[in-house]
Amino acid sequence: MKYISTRNPGAAVSGSAAVLTGLAPDSGLYVPQEFPGLTMSDIGSLVSLDYPERSARIMSLFFDELSYDELLGITRRAYATFDGDPAPLVKLDDGLYVLELWHGKTHAFKDMALSVLPLLMTALKEKAGQKETCLIPVATSGDTGKAALEGFSDVEGTGVIVFYPDGGVSHTQRRQMVTTTGGNVSVVAVRGNFDDAQTAVKRAFGDAELQADIAKLGCKMTGANSINLGRLAPQVAYYFSAYADLLAADMIKPGDRVNFCVPTGNFGNILAAYYAERMGLPVGMLVCASNDNNVLTDFLNTGVYSLDRPFIKTTSPSMDILVSSNLERLLFEITGRDGAQIKEWMTELREKGSYDIGKQRLAAVREKFRGGWAKQSDSAETLAEVFDEYGYLADPHTAVAFDVYRDYEDESGDERPTVIVGTASPVKFAPAVLSALGEKVPDDDVKALRRMEEITAFPVPDSVYALFGMRERFGEVIDPAEVPAAVEKFAARLGEKA
Ligand SMILES: *Cc1c(COP(=O)(O)O)cnc(C)c1O
Repeated sequence: MKYISTRNPGAAVSGSAAVLTGLAPDSGLYVPQEFPGLTMSDIGSLVSLDYPERSARIMSLFFDELSYDELLGITRRAYATFDGDPAPLVKLDDGLYVLELWHGKTHAFKDMALSVLPLLMTALKEKAGQKETCLIPVATSGDTGKAALEGFSDVEGTGVIVFYPDGGVSHTQRRQMVTTTGGNVSVVAVRGNFDDAQTAVKRAFGDAELQADIAKLGCKMTGANSINLGRLAPQVAYYFSAYADLLAADMIKPGDRVNFCVPTGNFGNILAAYYAERMGLPVGMLVCASNDNNVLTDFLNTGVYSLDRPFIKTTSPSMDILVSSNLERLLFEITGRDGAQIKEWMTELREKGSYDIGKQRLAAVREKFRGGWAKQSDSAETLAEVFDEYGYLADPHTAVAFDVYRDYEDESGDERPTVIVGTASPVKFAPAVLSALGEKVPDDDVKALRRMEEITAFPVPDSVYALFGMRERFGEVIDPAEVPAAVEKFAARLGEKA
């Protein structure tokens, strides 16, 4: 399988090149030259496989440099770090399911891909004969950071430096990051919001002088943000796996269409569902759920993507995003892979803060997508209702999806089976969960976790309590403009070690 850039579909590169660079040289995103296809019988054959096998099957369609057995070795090792089934499908009601993607070490869905990516990257790096250390600057809205730190910690030939918005993540999320051990990791707070951090990191990638400086230190920059193809491929796998589980439990017949409702930020998770559909998965509607930062809802309703709005901090911080990077890959498909058009829209977005895809293209998008958003107070109410009705405790992000799905169901009358994608464990957001349940929120984080456990019986792992007793290793706070210097300093540190 070869990969092309969304902004220059002419030139094709290998899967290794796509994963090892992250972003195409023209700042476009890598997409498969053509979508691999699965028949209904291929999908049916997933039923008897365990999760690492299902994942390796799907990944082998993307990376032909590696054999199925090599990929299975990778997925086995990656998902061995999970607590039980990596992607269990929980039935709440007839036709209503939750796909829980948060059983990895850092308790959010980012582990699904970031436990695989370091192993994939090192395997591909070896095949490609790359000698330099992969230096990986990561911007995080809260969950990617820790998942990347956990995945890459002490992985030879790699180093991760994480930039998170100062004051823009939950206490547990911050604690998870700043207490990370490992010789090849660093964590820095950036003044501003997630978009500021993401823009600064994107700029570092485009900074030729910085690239040259870190090359002298034996490093080469690569991306691990959700635009990296190596993140996308493992995410496609769990949509097929959920469908296989529905087949196995006789909840659907082969070919039945299933809806997925995905709490969305950077559009990576829901894009993986779209890719699964393009590869042959019978998908009904993809419901894109946003919080108060409802730029995608407006886009899916009007065809206009506009940044002319405030950035709102919410209790679902991992979705506090206004520039949804992966949307570019969907636009590429609905324009019939028109790289020049994509370039034009992305330039308009940068220069004017908006672009308009027009009515006809909007209609094409709406064949598969609907958008909705939940006000913070509404998603909190829904979190409590879902807990009352089903005894199911959702985290604030997943609660956004529940809320949006209810509205979608009411308005559309769509009765197809629906999978709500559960993206985080409530343990990462105990104060917000308590407040949604109408409880008083203790000031102390450990007390909040205990209280949540007491009233919901949701088990909080000891490792989460332990975070609050650990030494904070990283306390640096910088301006976005200082990101390149921080990357270079980190490269020097990695260079010394090598
Ligand atoms: C990252 C994240 C999201 C958003 O996922 P995207 O792929 O960026 O759309 C939603 N919920 C949680 C808990 C996350 O960590």
